[in-house]
Parts: sequence; C-alpha cells; structure tokens
Amino acid sequence: METIIQLFNLDKKYGAVHAVDNLSFTIQKGTVYGILGPNGSGKSTTLGMLLNVVNPTSGTFNWFDGQMSTHDALKRVGAIIERPNFYPYMSAAQNLELVCKIKGITTDKINEKLELVNLLERRNDKFRTYSLGMKQRLAIASALLNDPEILILDEPTNGLDPKGIQEIRHIIKYISQQGTTILLASHLLDEVEKVCSHVVILQKGKKLYEGRTDLMTQSHGFVELKAEGDVEKLTSILLNFKGIEKIEKENEMILAYLNLDINTGQLNQYLFENGIVVSHLKMSKPSLEQRFLVLTE
Ligand code: ADP
Ligand code: MG
Repeated sequence: METIIQLFNLDKKYGAVHAVDNLSFTIQKGTVYGILGPNGSGKSTTLGMLLNVVNPTSGTFNWFDGQMSTHDALKRVGAIIERPNFYPYMSAAQNLELVCKIKGITTDKINEKLELVNLLERRNDKFRTYSLGMKQRLAIASALLNDPEILILDEPTNGLDPKGIQEIRHIIKYISQQGTTILLASHLLDEVEKVCSHVVILQKGKKLYEGRTDLMTQSHGFVELKAEGDVEKLTSILLNFKGIEKIEKENEMILAYLNLDINTGQLNQYLFENGIVVSHLKMSKPSLEQRFLVLTE
C-alpha cells in the first residue's frame, strides 16, 4: 500500500495551549480519512501543519513516503481550509480560470470539475449569486483543478442545510471512488461515520483512537450483574468466560465489558454451574453517540 502522509509525534503549542499533543498517524492511498474531535481539539491546527501554514513546535511529517520536499508534495495536494473565497463579481468559470493562472496550470479541466460538483449549468453566474452550498462546491472544484492525489477539507459541511450537506457528502464519495485520497476534519461523529473509512479521534490535541471507522463503531457493550457473595471469586470466574475482557465495580453492580457478542442465557448458566446465583443480569450496548461522548469527555 502507498502511504500518502505520515505524522511522527507532531506537536503544537500556542503559549499555554497545547493544541496538538504528540500526534502520530498514517494515511494510506485510497482511504477517506477523518480527523474527528470536538471544537478546539486541534483538527485545523493539524491540517495547518501538514499544509505548511502552521509551524510545528516539534515532530515531523512525511508526504508521499518522504520522497519529495513538502513544497513539491503540496503541488499534489488540493485543500480547502478556509471559507471559500472568490471574486464576487466574476462568474464561477472566470474565478476558476484565475485559479488556473495563479497555480500555473491549464484551464482545460474547468468544465469537467464544474460538472463533477454539479455547477456546470451555473458556470456563467456570478459568484455572489451562489448559495453557501454552491460556494463550497465551487471551492471543491477549484481544489481539484490540478487532479490532486489527496483532497483536504476542513469541516466541509459547516453551515450548510441538509440538502447542501448531502450534496457535499455525495461529491466526497464520488471523488473517493475516482481514486483520490481524502482527508477531512469534522466535529460530527455522524459525518465521519457516513463518509470516512478511517478515523483518528482527537481530544485536546491528543489521539484517542486511530483505525477503521467501522471498528470504532463496533461495540459489544457490557453486562450488568449483581450477585451475593465473594466479589473476588465472582470476578475471576467472570474473566474465565469467553467474551468478557474486563470487570469494573460500580456500587452494588458489577460491569463485565465484552470483546465478543455473548449470550446472557449461557453466561447465566455458566455462573450457576460455578455456584453463583445472580439477582440481576442485563446486557447494555451504548450507542455510538454515547461512545463518542465517553471518548471525548
Ligand atoms: P479545531 O479545529 O479542532 O476546532 P483548532 O486546531 O482550531 O481546533 O484549535 C486547537 C486549540 O488551539 C484551541 O484551543 C484554539 O483556541 C487554539 N488555537 C488555534 N489557533 C490558534 C492561534 N493562532 N493562536 C492561539 N491559539 C490557537
Ligand atoms: Mg477547526
């Protein structure tokens, strides 16, 4: 697999604020990679460092296996990290022509990219007549003009209405299917879940999770139980049951955390055979939303 970018202990402090704290992760080609975290967790600062607009306090990163300078690597990157800004009295097409001139690339991809973001019919309308969703789509078209290897988006659906959000997500999926790697920062669990194949979760600049999105969301939950007798003995018997990985005590209640789906009937039978009678046994599966809140609390 080809590596698009790798971060090694990247760190950023703004005075007393530790915006990004010893962050490492790797993005492989072809993935839709999410940086997920609440506001202020360091997502934009991370993107800024990768794009050379924020200086890291320490740590490093490598674009494309470190085979080229960041300056050259960034020519193969398309990024939107600020509110889309174009000339209001120029049309979409004229704005993109200007972008091509500034970037020193040919203008022959303009219509193709406008079509991709569903703005071809509006190509001659002035930018100031565009809705926020259209502006965002135009920014995506603009970032794609040089056929980048990776497209970077910071909170791409912020401020959009549900239809606008859906359009952007649809476009992201389409671009990804064409083989472009995507890196997207978002504070929305739902967005990352719907769009991203991989995710790094940040809290106060620190990594809480890195990996496949579907594994993040896979929870086997826990079993709540109450039983008379020796807690130590009960704990060791529970830990011998396949699927139980951890025991916690919460007041009267014992919580058995699972790493497999289990059958509570079988657990009850097993405990009974080991001389334990439970007065309470209940399966609990926290929702994704709850898990994310726990992760980021
Ligand atoms: P996110 O994008 O996840 O909302 P940011 O990367 O914007 O988070 O911010 C992370 C932390 O760094 C926040 O506490 C923010 O206030 C602080 N921060 C970001 N940029 C600056 C800056 N230029 N100067 C001082 N503090 C900053
Ligand atoms: Mg941000």
